[in-house]
Amino acid sequence: MKLNKRAWRVIGLCAFMVIGVCGLFAAPKSGTYTATATGRNGDVTVSVTFADGRIADVKVLNQSETAGISDNALQQIPSAIVSGQTVSVDAVSGATATSEAIVNAVKDCIRQAGGDIAAFAKKAPAAKASAAIPKDLSADVAIVGGGASGISAAVSAADSGARVILIEKTATLGGASLFSWAGFGFDSRLAKASGNTVDKEKFIQDWIANCHWRIDAAVLRRFVNETGVTFDWLTDKGWKFVPLNFPGQPTMHMLPDYAERPALFKAMLDASVAKNGGMILTNTTATSLITDKSGAVVGVKAKRADGSVLTIHAKAVIMATGGYAGNREMVKKAFGFDGVNGGLPQNVGEGLQMAWKAGAAKPQNFGAQMLHQTLVKANLSKFSPFENKYPLILSYVPSLINVTGARFRSEDTVLDAVASANTSVFQGPYHYVVVSKTVIDALMEKGLKGIGMDVDPAMPPEVKPQFTLDTPWNNAYEVFDAMVAGGWGYKGATLEELARNAHMDTKTFVDTVKSYNAMCAAGADTEFGKPSKYMFSEGDEGPFYVIIAEINNLGSVGGLVINTKFQVLNDKRLPVSGLYGVGVESLGVLFNDTYVGFGAGIAWTFTSGRLGGAEAAKAVLAR
Ligand SMILES: Cc1cc2nc3c(=O)[nH]c(=O)nc-3n(C[C@H](O)[C@H](O)[C@H](O)COP(=O)(O)OP(=O)(O)OC[C@H]3O[C@@H](n4cnc5c(N)ncnc54)[C@H](O)[C@@H]3O)c2cc1C
Repeated sequence: MKLNKRAWRVIGLCAFMVIGVCGLFAAPKSGTYTATATGRNGDVTVSVTFADGRIADVKVLNQSETAGISDNALQQIPSAIVSGQTVSVDAVSGATATSEAIVNAVKDCIRQAGGDIAAFAKKAPAAKASAAIPKDLSADVAIVGGGASGISAAVSAADSGARVILIEKTATLGGASLFSWAGFGFDSRLAKASGNTVDKEKFIQDWIANCHWRIDAAVLRRFVNETGVTFDWLTDKGWKFVPLNFPGQPTMHMLPDYAERPALFKAMLDASVAKNGGMILTNTTATSLITDKSGAVVGVKAKRADGSVLTIHAKAVIMATGGYAGNREMVKKAFGFDGVNGGLPQNVGEGLQMAWKAGAAKPQNFGAQMLHQTLVKANLSKFSPFENKYPLILSYVPSLINVTGARFRSEDTVLDAVASANTSVFQGPYHYVVVSKTVIDALMEKGLKGIGMDVDPAMPPEVKPQFTLDTPWNNAYEVFDAMVAGGWGYKGATLEELARNAHMDTKTFVDTVKSYNAMCAAGADTEFGKPSKYMFSEGDEGPFYVIIAEINNLGSVGGLVINTKFQVLNDKRLPVSGLYGVGVESLGVLFNDTYVGFGAGIAWTFTSGRLGGAEAAKAVLAR
């Protein structure tokens, strides 16, 4: 019998239905399974319990994600997966990497249980529009961005008597300060008690000269003078800092534990903003500034996560949106850097675009970045935590040579994270750290002391407790071979082979290593002046390895020109009426072509927020 087209269609449809009902999508076997996926800071391990073909429970068993930033994802994603019976859940805004790690680990568990991921892929229903928030709101001062600068501005404006509305794009308040370590401050109660006697005037003059006089010296002076007041202000609001003094530097105020910060921010906002009739709206993204006929900024439009649109009328708007480091194209165009964004991915320059559109000037020095530590991406989680950090640790060790073919610096620069990043980026987004058999054998016998290390490498604080200088490096060859296998470095039996594998010019590289070894034998680095105590020969025996070391950009610096009252200026250097700028987007007035501060980011963020909020409130309440 010959079947016509319609009959074939019916047969096809029936077959599809039969296959679907009978289980094209295999159900997972009942039981509990565990899986691990990579989050923002490392591994996230979850367990998933299946019962009767359903996901009965998802638990996060182990993780090292940043407290505060990841909290919402760790709580909301497992319950969204269970309640929706789906892995197609929206990432928690601001905690995308953590959300994705949980989802990926759950997918792995479904696979292990013999289930079909497609059966758990229906889209979770969108959140219902929040009826409680009117579409039209008004405030004395609206603040855009809920990082430390926006929060400080909101609290300070409210304390000055203004009714404020703060809007934050993600679900999390605190921004990059939740990852940060410390800020500098002159003359705080803590600095005075610690006996620090650094000459403030010399500090200011050195800063100006080091930035080639291309900064706003009046803003710098006000900032430096006010840093200590800021840390006292925060202390009075419940923050506890630990002082740390380095020779010739103002006191570093180490922030409280990461996990304590969200509650401290919340307490500040509750005590000031909420009490004063203000509002904090998270999951709310500013989309444009509202201007009146005269060009004055009189409010902001925003979009909520549920899709609803808000109009906030305000007598002043403070921009605190943290810059554009999350916008790779924008960073590349502004700075020529195509490297790793170690800051907040959601900071894509929306605030700057809005402000420029409303008349703000784009600064002459636009493009500066907060270049910081060296990153080594090798993810060697099958080794112990100490072992899987070997490649990273060696990128902070001055005894080894750093090359982009040839050497480019005295490697003791790696002991200072900012200097290290800036000397590297001058070469491009990455460089190589050379490791030889001679180096590995010394590490395996005597640890870092075996290659002449006498100080802890300047590594991120969370990595430091994992090693001591004299711990022998067990399994070092296995770790470096795994690094190469993962594509995070190269190996060669000889220097020539390594050069070829790592795409370096062979003659340049071989000559560089040989001449360095000769300088080690002579005891003096005549090329870059590295201290002789760090001159450790790479030797001439293979295998040789190179580690790929990249530069970590903590954030963009600048984009708005401000004056000492934190008013945003236009091309004529006059204030754009009603518009203020705080946080890193206004930090460019203190630096020339790039950030070289020591705790300046945090000091400025809190100080500019505190002062900018008070200035805006004073101006609008005086009208
Ligand atoms: C890993 C890391 C470590 C650091 N360590 C130090 C340190 O030890 N010392 C130091 O001095 N500095 C450090 N810094 C730098 C310092 O943390 C930052 O300079 C500072 O926190 C920036 O604060 P901010 O408020 O200006 O911006 P952010 O903290 O970036 O806050 C901006 C906020 O605006 C929100 N936003 C963006 N767009 C919109 C929009 N359209 N609508 C609404 N909201 C929006 C973002 O979600 C974000 O929450 C570090 C930075 C990082 C990333």
